Order: sequence, then structure tokens, then C-alpha cells
Amino acid sequence: MIDLCSQESSPLLSIDAALARINAAIKPVAGSEHVALKQALGRVLSQSVYSPINSPHDRNAAMDGYAFSSNDSNRKQPFKLSLVGASWAGRPFKEQLQPGQCIRIFTGAVLPAQADSVVMQEQVYADGETIHFPANTPVQQNIREIGEDIKQGCLLCAHPKKLNAIDLGLLASAGIYELSVKRPIKIAFFSTGDELTALGQPLESGKIYDSNRYTLSGLLNDACYSVTDMGVIADNRQLLEDSLMTAAENYDVIITTGGASVGEADYVNEILDRCGEVNFWKIAIKPGKPLAFGKIGSCCFFGLPGNPVSVIVTFQHIVAPALKQLSGAPDSKPLQLTATCTSALKKVPGRQEYQRGILTQDHNGDFFVASSGQQGSNILSSMSQANCYIVLSTECQGIQAGDKVRVELIQDSKII
Ligand code: AMP
Ligand code: MG
Repeated sequence: MIDLCSQESSPLLSIDAALARINAAIKPVAGSEHVALKQALGRVLSQSVYSPINSPHDRNAAMDGYAFSSNDSNRKQPFKLSLVGASWAGRPFKEQLQPGQCIRIFTGAVLPAQADSVVMQEQVYADGETIHFPANTPVQQNIREIGEDIKQGCLLCAHPKKLNAIDLGLLASAGIYELSVKRPIKIAFFSTGDELTALGQPLESGKIYDSNRYTLSGLLNDACYSVTDMGVIADNRQLLEDSLMTAAENYDVIITTGGASVGEADYVNEILDRCGEVNFWKIAIKPGKPLAFGKIGSCCFFGLPGNPVSVIVTFQHIVAPALKQLSGAPDSKPLQLTATCTSALKKVPGRQEYQRGILTQDHNGDFFVASSGQQGSNILSSMSQANCYIVLSTECQGIQAGDKVRVELIQDSKII
């Protein structure tokens, strides 16, 4: 059992130490399933995929024109060939091409075995069935060779890749229609707090709308996650305990928001400590200090703070990497770069801060970042306007306008 007071007095866990502890405490889910290619977008491969065929499957034309044998060309001089047919994409020319003959050919159409050259239609002159080729007609060009994109037996996508739209196209081009992917991880989440009001209800004094569940359902929108929204649980020790224990039996991960700090009605850590294991419950970041991680049986538990911006920052920096690891996906980091800060930023040493910023790039390609507004952990508007975090180190004592800062692009955001 962890002494909840002792972590209070000892130095806070750095984000790197917290991530290392999570990394050591969890392992990817076992189990895979077969899905149709169309259902595989965003899923993690559980086996590498190799090509059963060559692509292109046949030697074919790279453009519309005329196909002929370079043996028939008179390199420096103009020459003429008799037109004996055509090869269309999907409808090949079935006869043999004889010396002195050529065919009309279209992009993607199979080349007759005797042909090794395709010349653009614009470069020749057609006089009925006689095709006139100019002097210096290029030969042995505009042909797509068998297997030049994909060789039969070659690796198409290596396990444990998370498949994107381009991968689906690549796999389809090799005729793959079914794949083995990791099973989705089962995630349940709920909000805690007597003050929370459901959308659609009038807001009484002292109450707030529950925004965290909407943020979380968006942040958890991933094909690798099977997500259950358990709603709002009141600040009631027994109700919270029952909800956590039931969820722990049925899910791989539970995420809660609120009730994780040290207020009188904040029961989450106490329940986790009694019914499971607290790994840590505070980390040295701002916003997001009161973040709990632990386990109830084999279920991972993340107790996020209640403040809406803390939910986003802790989810993106702590929970998301953990979920990736659980789902078996390869680790990936958000883009970080150096920018000139055009705002002065206040900062007290002690915690790594993620301040919300707006990152721009000027016509010289240089990056500039400005604060997107007030930085309180309840200020969702400046979070919504931001496209990046300005990452200020634990030791940093503030930023003057003109200083260089480390900036991290927020997932799915674009540089303006
Ligand atoms: P707590 O961690 O429960 O002490 O909550 C910290 C702050 O976050 C309080 O101002 C709460 O009202 C607010 N808060 C808690 N849960 C939510 C939620 N689901 N949506 C929006 N704000 C919340
Ligand atoms: Mg609360």
C-alpha cells in the first residue's frame, strides 16, 4: 500500500519517470482477430503481411501511345509500321506482333511479348493503318515492368504497424482482403462530481456542464479502442467504489476525471489504494499535477484531474502513450520544434509546463509562437484556439518575448 502522504512530501515524479513506470507496468494486450481490409483502417497488425503476387502483374504501358519492338526502329531515321490492333487496359491484344507491326496501346494495357517500346501518341503521325515514327524516336521506354512496385513474397507492411489509408491501398493492390490485427482494447471512462450537469438540462447555480466526457470521447476516437462511456458518478465513496470494481472486471482500462486531488470529496485515490495498487498519484507537470496511475487487478486505472485542460494535457502526454503500448501500436512522438516566442510567459520553477500556444511559420520558413491566452487549467477557450504546446522545462523561470522555446504540435493540429 502506498503512503498517499509520503508522495506529497517527496519531490514530484517527472513526466519521464511517470512514463517509465507506466511502461514497466503494462504490456500489450494478447489476442488478435481477423478483419476485412476495409475494417482495418487504424488497426494494429498482429502479423506482418507479404505480397502473394507481383505488382504490376503484367508488363504494361505507362501512357497512351503505340507499342512496337525496338528491332523495327530506325534509330536516327524516321520509320513506319503497320497498325494491326489495340491493347486496352483489361482487354489485351491477343495475337503475336510481327516484325514491321505496331499496336495502339493505352495506359495500363498489357504489352505484347514482342514489344519493348511505347511511344506517346502525340509523337507519331497516323495515316490510316500506317503509323509514321519520327527520327530519333525513343525506344524501350514508357513500360511498367512486372513487380517493379511490389515483388511477389516481399514484405508489404511489418507487424505491428498501425494501418493508414495508404497502407489499405497498398494491401489492396496486392489482392489482400483480410488481415490479422490486434484485438481492440476495452476502455471505460466516467466523470465524477456532484456539480456536473448533463447537457440539455438547465444550469443551476454552483453547477457546471460535464465537458470532460465529451473531450475524452473525442480523444479516445481510435479504431484500436472499444470505448464505453459510463456517465457521471456522484461524489459518493460507495458508488465510486462499486463503479470502479465493476469496470475493472470488464475492461482493460478505466479512465476517470475529477475527484483525484485532495479535497474532502476526492475519493478516487483512496479507493484505488484500498482496492488496487496506486503506482503514482502526482506528477511534476502543469497543468495536470493530480494524476493517478495504478491497477485494479489486471485493469489499468488512470485518474485524471477534473479541470478540463488538465484532462487534455494528461491524456495526450501520459494516457495516450500508455494506450498505444497496450494496443500493441508502435510508439510515436508528437512533432517538436524550436520557435521564437513572441509573448512573455510567466513560469515558476518546479514543474514542466505545457502552455497553450499558436504556432505560425513565416514566408522564410521560420517558426513563431504566441500564447493563445489565459493559462488556467479551467480555461478551455485558449486550449481550443491553440495548435501547439509551448513546453517549458521544470527549471525554467519564465520567457521574455523574443526567446527561443520548445514547441510541440498538438495532435491533428496544423501550423498556421
Ligand atoms: P476535482 O478534481 O474533482 O477537484 O475537480 C477540479 C475542477 O474541475 C473543479 O472545478 C471541477 O468542477 C472541474 N471538473 C470536474 N469534473 C469536470 C467535468 N467532467 N467537466 C468539467 N469540469 C469538471
Ligand atoms: Mg470533484
